[in-house]
Amino acid sequence: MTVQPIRLFGDPVLRTPAEPVVDFDKELRRLVADLIETMRTEAGAGLAAPQIGVGLRVFAFDVDDVVGHLVNPVLHFPDEEEQDGPEGCLSIPGLHFDTKRRRNVVARGFDEHGEPAQLVGSGIMARCVQHETDHLDGVLFVDRLDQAARKEAMKAIREAPWYDLGAPPVVKVSPHGPRPGRPMPGPLGL
Ligand SMILES: [Zn+2]
Repeated sequence: MTVQPIRLFGDPVLRTPAEPVVDFDKELRRLVADLIETMRTEAGAGLAAPQIGVGLRVFAFDVDDVVGHLVNPVLHFPDEEEQDGPEGCLSIPGLHFDTKRRRNVVARGFDEHGEPAQLVGSGIMARCVQHETDHLDGVLFVDRLDQAARKEAMKAIREAPWYDLGAPPVVKVSPHGPRPGRPMPGPLGL
């Protein structure tokens, strides 16, 4: 397994809906291992395949010492309850904004071997699952903010040290792990 560079806001891969996994093969298992290894190195609570430049519907999570992955997730919401709280993203490093999410979620999909898998989560786990599944649809958490907060977030992104205004919006990679000048993503980097 290999730690992969994290794609940052501005990279078109983050805005491209990912394709469903069809082949549950060795390559998929390598992808899952890379996701988990990269997520741990970056101290993230979750990581979706597009964030390492792979357009497949796979994400990994690490919430309250529960580490795992889900392939081709489909979300179900058992109730109408909501939660509001700080959320961040490894692809938008150093920035956190209160984001409304559903409180409880049931995510159904498959594991890396093609066996049906189900993840029942509430609170932070539910937030993580919704955030990562959004990534698979090309959606970022700043899209979920209300208009005023989104405006503030976009300003903060443009002013962030890692955001390169002059560069064309192609591949932007972050170095592996934190370094001076690059804030830690915090406990809710997803
Ligand atoms: Zn994210």
